[in-house]
Amino acid sequence: MQESSSDPAPANDERHTITADREAIEERAAIIEFDGGLSRIEAEALAGITPDPDRHCWPHTTAMNTAEIDTFSARVHLFTRHGLDTTEAEKLADSLATRDRQADDRRVCLECRNLRRSGGLWRCGQPHRAGWAGADLPGDLVNLLQRCEGFTS
Ligand code: SF4
Repeated sequence: MQESSSDPAPANDERHTITADREAIEERAAIIEFDGGLSRIEAEALAGITPDPDRHCWPHTTAMNTAEIDTFSARVHLFTRHGLDTTEAEKLADSLATRDRQADDRRVCLECRNLRRSGGLWRCGQPHRAGWAGADLPGDLVNLLQRCEGFTS
């Protein structure tokens, strides 16, 4: 018999094997948990399930997950390179983590590749795309959430 494109994958397909293995391991963990009176985490460890390091983090809880921590650290590094002190940089990075969770599409100039600092003044490398007459930017604008046509990540 010829297989049509809508036929399910054959039983020896690797995807079936992976799913079956995963189901068997999870069933083993459930048995260990209930029969052994262990916590789910202990049972999963004994069953050979590698725990997800982010299982107790965002979006399951408010704690930052691995990706958020990496982004937070990168932003603090970037902001301190731009001259913010560590406290300011961490505060801004923290507020941007909240922004990201809210799927807010606004950005700050301090995240933009077009931002320059020269002689203690902030300058935009794409003022016309950004809608500015000149390159100089007011100091209080660079950490303000906004939508800018010139923003470059
Ligand atoms: S392009 Fe826009 S976001 Fe980027 S530095 Fe200029 S004004 Fe700021």
